[in-house]
Amino acid sequence: MELNLQELNKTEYPIPVELQSNVAITSLSSVYNWGRRNSMWPMLFGLACCAIEMIATATSRFDFSRFGMEVMRATPRQSDLMIVSGTVTKKMVVPIVRLYNQMPEPKYVLAMGACASGGGPFKEGYNVVSGIDKYLPVDVYVPGCPPTPQALLYGLIALQKKIDGQSLSVADDVPWYGVGPSEPAPVPILGPDIIDPRQMDMIRRQAEAAANVKTEEPVYHLNAVRELPALDAEQAVAVAARPKASTAVDESIEMKSFSQAGMSADAIEALRVKRRENALQRKAARLAKEG
Ligand code: SF4
Repeated sequence: MELNLQELNKTEYPIPVELQSNVAITSLSSVYNWGRRNSMWPMLFGLACCAIEMIATATSRFDFSRFGMEVMRATPRQSDLMIVSGTVTKKMVVPIVRLYNQMPEPKYVLAMGACASGGGPFKEGYNVVSGIDKYLPVDVYVPGCPPTPQALLYGLIALQKKIDGQSLSVADDVPWYGVGPSEPAPVPILGPDIIDPRQMDMIRRQAEAAANVKTEEPVYHLNAVRELPALDAEQAVAVAARPKASTAVDESIEMKSFSQAGMSADAIEALRVKRRENALQRKAARLAKEG
């Protein structure tokens, strides 16, 4: 990358014309940012269709090596830019946040495409998070489904401009220039953590209702395994009448529920024998039919 001294020269101190192509007076932040903005190393990973456009941006037709970004690293330890290119599923958001935490600072995140920015066509899907910005601090959003390579390049240039505006002396601007280590992003736990917060009231009400069935007291153990209420005698008869090819495990669970419902041991045993006889008759009929 060629160093443009006129561009770097950002002070009011006058420099004689004959020295302007050899001397620049500038701030430490400007030199530091100039070095970083022109040598961003993105992490080498893709999530979905947007990744194909990201790959195209790296190839010769678009060639983001013009911006010093060609060295995509396959390890977060050597990356300073995470391009989240594609649909972020609830399963993948966990390793994505973990990888982000493993990147050294200063580090940046670019949300590429509608999926990474807000869920995209899969928003509200059972397995998709509504934007990576719920979990990581995003610096640049690139809209589109998918964004073209030109759009991604535009986003990368926008990121370079953002880096230009950062200062080593302003800790509020970028946390890693402050005193002490910055906090890692909380790694979500696949399952109870990854829920739609807008449904919290409904989830809490359902959990309370389920807990009240057994204890009559509100219990707030959202992560607990909920026990189903025992069947009453009428439900037990309905279950017994239901046609079902029970496995041995299913059958023992079902028999246990009959017992909980108050059926006598003799009645349960009679039911078991009757079922076995029916199964044998069906088997004999099938063998006879097959010849
Ligand atoms: S934004 Fe569109 S192109 Fe990109 S990952 Fe989502 S569905 Fe695929």
